[in-house]
Amino acid sequence: MKEETKIIHAVPVDPLTGAVSVPVYQTSTFVQESPGVNKGFDYSRSNNPTRQVLENLVAELEEGKLGLAFSSGLAAVDAVVKLLSSGDEIVAVDDIYGGSYRLFTHVYKKLGIRVTYVDSGDVENVRAALNDRTKLVWLESPTNPTLKISDIRAISELAHANGALVVVDNTFASPVLQKPLLLGADIIIHSATKYLAGHSDVIGGVIIAGSEELGQQLKFIQNASGAVLGPWDSWLVIRGIETLCLRVEKQSDNGLRVARFLLDHPDVDQVYYPGLVHHRNHNIAIEQQKGFGGVVSFSLKTDSAQDAVKFVTSTQLFLLAESLGGVKSLLCHPTTMTHKSTPPEVKKSVGVTDSLIRLSCGIEHYSDLITDLDQAFAHVQSVSINQSELALS
Ligand code: PLP
Repeated sequence: MKEETKIIHAVPVDPLTGAVSVPVYQTSTFVQESPGVNKGFDYSRSNNPTRQVLENLVAELEEGKLGLAFSSGLAAVDAVVKLLSSGDEIVAVDDIYGGSYRLFTHVYKKLGIRVTYVDSGDVENVRAALNDRTKLVWLESPTNPTLKISDIRAISELAHANGALVVVDNTFASPVLQKPLLLGADIIIHSATKYLAGHSDVIGGVIIAGSEELGQQLKFIQNASGAVLGPWDSWLVIRGIETLCLRVEKQSDNGLRVARFLLDHPDVDQVYYPGLVHHRNHNIAIEQQKGFGGVVSFSLKTDSAQDAVKFVTSTQLFLLAESLGGVKSLLCHPTTMTHKSTPPEVKKSVGVTDSLIRLSCGIEHYSDLITDLDQAFAHVQSVSINQSELALS
């Protein structure tokens, strides 16, 4: 069965009533016949029927053994790190999402978990960083915001030979474009806030475990720590997933067209998009992804933060906002927004420059998106010309 069909029919009809849309079980607790004898549910932190539909759905989408839904993507990241003990180490991609960096640095460092950041775009850097205390290799592929690609298969083989597990934050690709467990990874996390939910209307996260054993360990942590996704929010993510294939296909098409437009633009310095042949790991992206997604980052020739801010406040369709993956196009200035908490030297080393701009293409018509970007470039130019004329007069 093709994926589009599989997704639609993986959302079950309600066995109790025949309802075609999944019912929202807005309840905290469940009546028991006698202590411990129930219909599979006793308390909604431990399990809830609506959340369970979502958890089974994401496990099926990622071809994993067990899915778990959390109150945010960062709560999912946090649950995975809780598999570790003090003294354990993580080797992570250097261009990691700023919030994951903040969690590792400001919460887990003081609890004795050390993270080494490497450019995992080159497998040899991962090899050099592994040691006998490394318990996790943490990848994002593509990364946020410079769309770095890591060879998930090669790194998984390397990590396993060293006794470490591989976690892939698959938020940017979505399960439609990439299935990390099939490439050898052990655990996947998603910020469900992004492509899975897809409408910028909910904060959520999911974990998919590749083995029953890891799944049960993570389920224990989910219940013990308690950062679960509520029934309404679970329903919103389920509803979003029903159109995931259509949306991601359109967003990938828009992403590629916008990236090509930017590549030819005289005011643009670098374009970061794995679908472009000049991308450093384009060949790996072709191997492990079915498409390249809707996120495109670029920097300006002037490398001026002021020009970047002028640009992001000049677009009409691309809305200036954090987040990505929704049906409406968004844009942001990573250095002052999503990556504000990342130290300047780290930002510099991973390419988060003053003029870097991240676009998240929605499902609008590509020609309107390109026209919008074009007028924003013209606006930045005209403001700069006016300012230099004023300085001369
Ligand atoms: N992982 C990635 C790649 C992200 O981009 C984000 C948020 O932007 C997160 C994790 C965290 O997700 P959330 O904002 O849902 O907590």
